[in-house]
Amino acid sequence: MSPVPGKGLAQGLAVTLRSMMRPSVTQEYPHQRPELPPRSRGVIALLEENCTSCMLCARECPDWCIYIDSHKETQAPKTEGGRARTYNVLDRFAIDYALCMYCGICIDVCPFDALFWTPEFEYAAHDIHDLTHERDRLRDWMWTVPAPPADSGAEPPASGRPARERAAAGDTASTDAASTDEEPTA
Ligand code: SF4
Ligand code: SF4
Repeated sequence: MSPVPGKGLAQGLAVTLRSMMRPSVTQEYPHQRPELPPRSRGVIALLEENCTSCMLCARECPDWCIYIDSHKETQAPKTEGGRARTYNVLDRFAIDYALCMYCGICIDVCPFDALFWTPEFEYAAHDIHDLTHERDRLRDWMWTVPAPPADSGAEPPASGRPARERAAAGDTASTDAASTDEEPTA
């Protein structure tokens, strides 16, 4: 049987017409911002005050894209014959988003609630070096961390005392990873 002339064309036009009638699911980004789920993984924010430079996140990161530098400082003993305390002072904290695969392990393992997801995703860069966010930029992302969903029972991010103050107050519960006791100074 010979094919009906123009049948294929009619079928193609029918598909086009059906698609034109369906409501569109695309959004006109960037004129229309997408409504992202609250737990979207856009970028990682650093609450610097909570970071004790314990290096756990950097060690667990499968991509080795967290760079941390710190040095130790010593807090003089508060009483005569007491113990001097050493604690870490953060010099550098950076994340290279050109390498990051957004697995979230660093956030999960941080024992001091210093890292948070934020849904912000508009930080594409022409220069790959600009994808390494240093600590000031990571700190700025904190302003975009959404409050946890009401039914989650979670508390919003809370800034703790910096490691220096915790060490000075002898708060060993929160500075064990950051400070160490030294022998009494005679
Ligand atoms: S999200 Fe994963 S890959 Fe990215 S910095 Fe954290 S641990 Fe590394
Ligand atoms: S695990 Fe948390 S406290 Fe430790 S270095 Fe990373 S961000 Fe700082």
